[in-house]
This record gives sequence, structure tokens and C-alpha cells, in this order.
Amino acid sequence: MPRATVAIVDLNALRFNYRRAEALASPADTMAVVKADGYGHGLEAVARSLADLTACYAVACIEEAERIRRVGLAHPVVLLQGVHDPEDWARCGEADFEVVIHEPGQLEALFARASHPMPTIWLKVNTGMNRLGFAPGDISGVIERVRRRPGIRLRGLVTHLACADDPEHPMNACQIGLMTALQSEFPELQFSVANSAAHYRDGDAAFQWTRPGIMLYGGAPLQGKTGQELGLQPVMTLQSNLIAVRELQDGETVGYGATWQASGPRRMGIVAIGYGDGYPRHAPSGTPVWVRGRRVPLIGRVSMDMIAVELTDVPNAQPGDTVELWGRHVSVDEVARRSGTISYELLAGVMPRVPRRYIDPVS
Ligand SMILES: *Cc1c(COP(=O)(O)O)cnc(C)c1O
Repeated sequence: MPRATVAIVDLNALRFNYRRAEALASPADTMAVVKADGYGHGLEAVARSLADLTACYAVACIEEAERIRRVGLAHPVVLLQGVHDPEDWARCGEADFEVVIHEPGQLEALFARASHPMPTIWLKVNTGMNRLGFAPGDISGVIERVRRRPGIRLRGLVTHLACADDPEHPMNACQIGLMTALQSEFPELQFSVANSAAHYRDGDAAFQWTRPGIMLYGGAPLQGKTGQELGLQPVMTLQSNLIAVRELQDGETVGYGATWQASGPRRMGIVAIGYGDGYPRHAPSGTPVWVRGRRVPLIGRVSMDMIAVELTDVPNAQPGDTVELWGRHVSVDEVARRSGTISYELLAGVMPRVPRRYIDPVS
């Protein structure tokens, strides 16, 4: 018998969330961001199940783009971080990988390979994130240089918002304003600004293409919200089971560091999941888990392969019972918030030893 620990991935929920992103983005088109193994859900399964809905995928690197090709999908794939090795340029041209160029060296490397089939490119504009991109004032010069090279198709301009998870932050309007100005200068180009969070604005960030990631997987892109509060369905249910149940006497402690102590007689259980599976080690006592139709608190420290939960209010709980760590009853956003992180990190951090089990779309 295998361990019961599993990540159940509901591809119906994924498709529901994609349609929701698409509706919020309309009339802009939507590229599905499937980097980091589809935010931990399995890149191949995610890409396949969105194939009839999306016109385009976006990934971080060429290795991820190749995985999309290997399952037979021919959609354009945008490499958000560009190519890391100049040798990869030829492959991008052949494979219809659209490359985001963010610095002059990448442009030189592309120009040096002028004889190969040329890929479609996007230029990244640094509107304030200050990670990657050309300064807005340099863009027209860069566009001019690209246009002097025959064969290169420049599709458009991309930027990334630094503070979209806080809709009130003044930086949003500032970054969007810089792109609006560039759009009036270059109306023939396509623009892409919005990550998931910006789908919840009034449309000012939509431009021609949006790039939803976390919302496709049901995670909330806005601070202080859960995905369900934003009309999204959780895609992953991380579950395991109880492998031991015990009674504690007043004053007994649980787990490493003896950080949790029973005040009075208590019932507790051990669940077969830990940080070795990607459950966050920083989840504090009190983080909810779902057992027999109710939320019960995590107690003590998270171990590599197990956690302890309090079962005093669930007297009939017994070894073998299913436990939901996150999913429909316990939001991954809530577990993330309590653990001092974001749902992105929890979802993308589910370890390979946790098997993914897929619920196939019903069409
Ligand atoms: C990851 C990423 C996205 C998707 O962001 P979400 O917040 O998950 O929607 C969009 N654009 C770029 C450039 C990214 O790196």
C-alpha cells in the first residue's frame, strides 16, 4: 500500500479558472502561465488540459517550453526570461518559441545569428520593477535597431507590475501609464502588462494580452483574500491520512522542541505529511487542517514526514481517516498567510515524492 499522501489536481477547476481569467481580460487575449511545473500541478497535464482554450502559453525557460512541445502541442510559447544560452536561438526560431528580450546582450546574440530562422520576439520594458527590461526612454531606439534586421518579427512590449497584489498602490497606475504612452507611440505593437492580480482592476491593465498564472490554479493574487473569495476554484487538494491517534495528559508536549503543551486531557493525531512533501515547516500551531468534516488545528512543529493535529473535538477520528491540508475546505491562501508566505510558494513547492492524481475534465 502506498502512502496516502497525494496532490489531487482537478482539471475542471483549472479550466473554470482559465475561463474566468479570460472573461476578466476580455477583449484582451490571455496566455496561460505554466512555468514552475504548472505552479506545481504538473506542466504537461496543465498545458494539455488548457490546449483547446488558450492561444498561447508562457514559461520561464526553454526547458519548460520543450516540455510543451514534447506532448505534441504546437501553440506559441513565450519565454518570459528569454534565452539563457545563445545556442538556443536557433531552436526558438524552429520551434515557434517567442522570446522576451530584456537586455542589450541578448539582442546582440540574436543579431549574431542572423542566418537561422528567426524567432518572434517581445521586448521587456522596465517600468519600475527594476529586475529586467529596457528603460522606457530606450525602447524606441531598440525597436529601430530590431526593425533594421530583416526576418525578426517584433510582436510587442511586455512589462511586469511590482505591486499589483495591492490594487491601491500608486505604482500600478504609474507603470500602466508608461505602457499606455508607449502604446500610443507604437500602436502597431501588442502589449502585455497584467499578471493575475491585474485582472481584478477595471481593465486599464488588459492591453492586448494578459498573463494569468496563480489565478488559473485557484490561488488568490490579491493580498488578504482567498481564491474562493475572488470567484476561483481550488485546483489542488493536498491530502494525506491519520496514521496514529493518541490521548495526551495535561502538561504533555508534542513534537520537536516540545513547543506545544496540552492544557488538560487532549486527543491528537499524526498525519503522514511534512516539509519533505512541501507542507510548510513554518506553519504555526493553529494552522487549520480538515478532518471528518471539520477544521482542526495543527499542533507543534512540522516534521519532515509528519505533522500533529489536535482531535479533541473529533472524538471519532481514527487512523486511516483522510486529512485535507489544503483544497476546498482549507484555502491554500490561508495556510500560506499563516506560514508567512504566498500560495505560489506552497503550490510550486509540493515535492516530487507527492504523486499528482488528476481529475480529468468532463466535456
Ligand atoms: C510568473 C509571471 C506571471 C504570472 O504571474 P501571476 O502573479 O502568477 O499571475 C506573469 N508575468 C511574468 C513576467 C511572470 O514571470
